[in-house]
Amino acid sequence: MLYRLKDAGYQAFLVGGSVRDLLLGIRPKDFDVATDALPEEVRRLFRNCRLIGRRFRLAHVHYGDEIIEVATFRAAAAPPEVDDEDHREIDDARVHDDSGRILRDNVYGSIEGDVWRRDFTCNALYYNIADFSVWDYVDGAADVHARVMRLIGDPETRYREDPVRMLRAARFAAKLGFTMHPETRAPMDELASLLGGVPAARLFDESTKLFLGGHGLASLESLIDFGLLAHLLPDTADELARDPSGPAAKLLRLGLAGTDARVASDRGVTPTFLFAVLLFGPIQRLALAKIANGTPESHAWSDATDEVLSTQVRRVAIPKRFTLPLRELLVLQPRFERRDGRRSLALLQHPRFRAAYDFMLLRAEAGMIPAEVATWWTEIQTVPAEERHERLAQLAQVAPAEGGEPGDTPDGAGRPRRRRRRRRPGGGGGSDAPSA
Ligand code: ATP
Ligand code: MG
Repeated sequence: MLYRLKDAGYQAFLVGGSVRDLLLGIRPKDFDVATDALPEEVRRLFRNCRLIGRRFRLAHVHYGDEIIEVATFRAAAAPPEVDDEDHREIDDARVHDDSGRILRDNVYGSIEGDVWRRDFTCNALYYNIADFSVWDYVDGAADVHARVMRLIGDPETRYREDPVRMLRAARFAAKLGFTMHPETRAPMDELASLLGGVPAARLFDESTKLFLGGHGLASLESLIDFGLLAHLLPDTADELARDPSGPAAKLLRLGLAGTDARVASDRGVTPTFLFAVLLFGPIQRLALAKIANGTPESHAWSDATDEVLSTQVRRVAIPKRFTLPLRELLVLQPRFERRDGRRSLALLQHPRFRAAYDFMLLRAEAGMIPAEVATWWTEIQTVPAEERHERLAQLAQVAPAEGGEPGDTPDGAGRPRRRRRRRRPGGGGGSDAPSA
């Protein structure tokens, strides 16, 4: 790939995280390439290439399921005086908004300019394919060895240009265990609120990198430490502030640690489960408040989920394909605790059972529900279908309190009663009927 660029007469450098990670002895997550070839020229060279991005135009070269990101050198802050070739449209010039945010950065240049618009010194090392040398204009190698995150240039200006750099700082600090250079850390407190002006779709992408990249728990701690969490996940930050070591905080940390473990062992992770973990605290708080005000349990959970999600998605654009299953997963939760009729076994057949069950295990681990409930649901899955009703019946005899009234349970003949369960007025619980 690099050689094809070189052989076509272009400069080709490996840059960014891959060079940094190789210096640190970590396996790079992906490879970024910098070149003096224009995006169109890259596309002409590689059949398997797509041009993406408007704010920042890039070529994506596909190799199987791997993507190599090829960026054309950008000019340094001041656009070069003569840079008006026909194919560089006026539209492509670098555009700022009032807060200094760069809206578009497509003014092409040379490597000497390119280096200054990279974010951190550790990300600005160039590995030249032509002679295997590392080009280091900003003492990046020294910072990598000292394990320091340092922004290139004036930190305040650089955060204003792109506030997402604050989140990137938190992410790299978490992933690499680097410390922040004091001057790189200092402007954050004042500038964190600029994250409010970043498009919600970009914040979704960045959130998945923060939390699903294998260092989610450490990312959370960095975000808290840097005062950024409240600008990304305000309700979550609020919940943690109210009860820093309560069950919701525990669930959040256990959930992120579990996600990290899955990433480490190459098991799949989904934004659905992630955001359920991130938002469960605030959703539960709201649902319980609604129940206390007389809303039936089932409505309380779905309403609380909808309310918390609708505020959250305005800031972080979680796509519907994740929020819809998230809602289902959470709304099923009360059914695990209510093992008292044929509906409880139907839960096993629910298309969201697996995710809902995993989430229930997490709640048990966080001490939100009895461990015995988790064990029961784990075991029932190993029991042949014919015996499951018997299990329900046994449960009713052993622990009548949980299933409601003793007389209100399966009759012990291996079949649940068919009659509908009635609740005492004001009993709340799982009744779908509207309550007073
Ligand atoms: P990762 O290990 O997550 O891939 P990375 O450092 O490679 O980390 P990328 O998002 O892949 O990060 O970006 C590649 C490189 O592009 C970065 O190392 C950095 O030099 C530059 N870069 C990316 N985003 C920005 C930004 N917002 N501002 C300045 N430079 C950036
Ligand atoms: Mg990268």
